[in-house]
Amino acid sequence: MTVPLVVGNWKMNGKQAESAVLARAIVSQLETKPSNVEIAIAPPFTALPVVGMELRNSPVKLAAQNCHWEPSGAFTGEVSAPMLSEIGCQYVILGHSERRHIFHERDEMIARKISSVTAQSMRAILCVGETLDQRHGDKTVEIVTAQLDNALKGLAKGVIADLEIAYEPVWAIGTGQHATPEQVSQVHECIREYLRTGFGAVSGNAVRLLYGGSVKPENAESLAKIDQVNGFLVGGASLQAEPFLAIADAFNEN
Ligand code: PEP
Repeated sequence: MTVPLVVGNWKMNGKQAESAVLARAIVSQLETKPSNVEIAIAPPFTALPVVGMELRNSPVKLAAQNCHWEPSGAFTGEVSAPMLSEIGCQYVILGHSERRHIFHERDEMIARKISSVTAQSMRAILCVGETLDQRHGDKTVEIVTAQLDNALKGLAKGVIADLEIAYEPVWAIGTGQHATPEQVSQVHECIREYLRTGFGAVSGNAVRLLYGGSVKPENAESLAKIDQVNGFLVGGASLQAEPFLAIADAFNEN
């Protein structure tokens, strides 16, 4: 039985004190209503240590939003996977569309980042997804397949055991316009088939596929019901404990 994973991506929001308060609220609300869902939160780099302190002795996992692919070196402004591992991160989000589009990250960079994260025994959450133009041009499956090909080729086959894949249509992120259950189902089925074909049925079926893009308490239930949806990556709605946990709760009800 796959344990669903719900990850809160706080993006560039939250100084240390407010991040600690939010993490504490998530942990304490979870204590009053235990969940069968695995929950992780990804604060900005500067808040990782304080949030990590709040999460000690709780089931909530610490995640980072990005990292560099080298362990150390002359890369001004960057943070490496060993540095994240050292402060207790268990997950690292990689290839988020904001990284791809604003910071011009290419698939090849993302592939190297996946290796650096898994080498530290952390799990990578690989984000893929199409723009609105690409969807209108009927290119969704082609784009997502190319992103997977480029990010995963060259990696050891076993690496997918340390990976989650988040399908995040770019047009749905932060827009309030989530993909329909039919759209999500179609892409998730394609990703699943891609993984089964490339890595074998057992390994391919074991990878958790998350959906991300304007998930809210109001739409979480219908999205959580989709066969190949094994979790969510949540942006805006993860900035408050109550809606975030209500979203995670959608999987308890399934
Ligand atoms: C995200 O940033 O990964 C995301 C899905 O954001 P939002 O939930 O705000 O659309």
